[in-house]
Amino acid sequence: MHMFNYCLVAAFFLPAGLMLEGAFEEERLKMVTKQIQYRGVSDKATLEAMGEVPRHEFVPSELEKYAYNDRPLPIGYGQTISQPYIVAYMTEKLKLEPEHRILEIGTGSGYQAAVLAEIVEQVYTVEIIPQLAARTKAKMKVLSSKNIHIKQGDGFHGWEEEAPFDAIIVTAAASFIPPPLIDQLKDGGRMIIPVGSTFGPQHLMLVTKLKDKIRTKRLIPVRFVPFTRQ
Ligand code: SAH
Repeated sequence: MHMFNYCLVAAFFLPAGLMLEGAFEEERLKMVTKQIQYRGVSDKATLEAMGEVPRHEFVPSELEKYAYNDRPLPIGYGQTISQPYIVAYMTEKLKLEPEHRILEIGTGSGYQAAVLAEIVEQVYTVEIIPQLAARTKAKMKVLSSKNIHIKQGDGFHGWEEEAPFDAIIVTAAASFIPPPLIDQLKDGGRMIIPVGSTFGPQHLMLVTKLKDKIRTKRLIPVRFVPFTRQ
């Protein structure tokens, strides 16, 4: 009798869970075509990574059903996970290669780091809010991701011990480009960073470093949470 009940429970719940995962996957593939490809992102590795990483695992459980919507979402501590299109846009601009080692400033939910980690060898990411750094570290363990390294601290100083990096991505808006980040970029490396004021206009800036010559190019207008200091 017990056995029978158990089977009944398993038969009822297991397919429901799988069905949910299937629905999320369908939404995720729609997100890739309708929000990302349609707006011009064409890099194959970026599109594949966006189709692979379960974004719903990186948002608070009560917001899971909105995970694949065309918008940023709150992740606690006054911070947000960026809109999927912006994550993909920034990822594509870095021109990533499989052997790259990348630095991210602003770990937040860990979603952007997870997307990068699908494409490159190692991702180093720094988060200033201790509780958020700890929470995301624990999540990465659960998701058994091996190539994401999280450090709590002020990302203004980058991650000296692991430098130089092939590319750097900053996911909080700074009023200027932190000089230590430029120093920690390899020759030929690229950095993408939102620059502007907290309440005023912000733009994504693409920084390239070639033979110690720094070039910056202003890309699209954006809205990011502020880059704070410790
Ligand atoms: N990439 C994240 C986006 C998080 S929002 C994601 O995919 O979810 C930006 C994050 O930058 C916030 O978590 C904020 O706490 C963090 N941040 C702001 N200033 C920082 C700094 N100086 N150093 C490190 N992290 C910082």
